[in-house]
Amino acid sequence: MRAAVPDRLSDMLSRLKLTGIRDQLDGLLDEASRQELSLRETLVLLCEREIARKDERRIEMTLKLARLRDLSGFDFAAQPSIDPKQVRELAGARWIANGENVLLLGPPGVGKTHLAVALGREAILAGHSVQFIAATTVVAQLAKGHSEGRLEERLAHLAKPKLLIIDELGYLPFKPNAAHLFFQLVSRRYEKGAILLTSNRSVGEWGAVFGDPIVATAILDRLLHHSHVITIRGDSYRLKEKRRSGPLQKPAAAETKSEKKS
Ligand code: ADP
Ligand code: MG
Repeated sequence: MRAAVPDRLSDMLSRLKLTGIRDQLDGLLDEASRQELSLRETLVLLCEREIARKDERRIEMTLKLARLRDLSGFDFAAQPSIDPKQVRELAGARWIANGENVLLLGPPGVGKTHLAVALGREAILAGHSVQFIAATTVVAQLAKGHSEGRLEERLAHLAKPKLLIIDELGYLPFKPNAAHLFFQLVSRRYEKGAILLTSNRSVGEWGAVFGDPIVATAILDRLLHHSHVITIRGDSYRLKEKRRSGPLQKPAAAETKSEKKS
């Protein structure tokens, strides 16, 4: 036997993820008949309602995500290799005004991106312009600019924000020539604009990441000159949380492997 029409409609709207229409269907249909809308006008009303709902949800989610990654959400007790005093001082954003750099180094899952976003928020609150960009994106943008004869334009653009956050250096090795382009970016910002860089590779491994030890040294030279280096040690926070709350009780050796991609 077929389900009643309202149930079927509600099921189909759920399947199509049209939850705005589903939850307000009776009210919307009443509204349509009160206004004597045509079928087409009724569809417009329904779609408008759905879009409004999706926009609300999206904004809510974005705010929630941003809230999750602030300093108050960082559990310092879980990460004893970090000095909370040093992080609090960096939250003061004086280093940004001075055009200094911050390097957040450590294995995957230990909170590097979390802290980078949190410090970026503090910088914005202190009135600085901030751009957050993945290392692979920076390199791709520079390479594209270079091949199109518009490198200068790209460099000027990336030199603009008072703080440039470059996330996840080292997850992929650089292609030939990319190290030179990255060097130009670092030189351009040197002593003028702050850089916050996160990497899962230790500074000693950067020769391999950049595929060119000489350029890597030149990059490091400038980055480290006025810098604050935070090296985070220990296990992935996510795995620790999971283990605390659930059945995941793997030996330590299996853990590094399963976390490689995060
Ligand atoms: P990484 O960039 O070092 O790989 P993330 O910053 O992405 O790690 O952290 C992974 C997840 O664990 C994120 O959801 C982050 O918010 C959370 N997290 C990591 N460390 C902490 C911590 N000390 N306190 C609270 N949340 C943390
Ligand atoms: Mg990260």
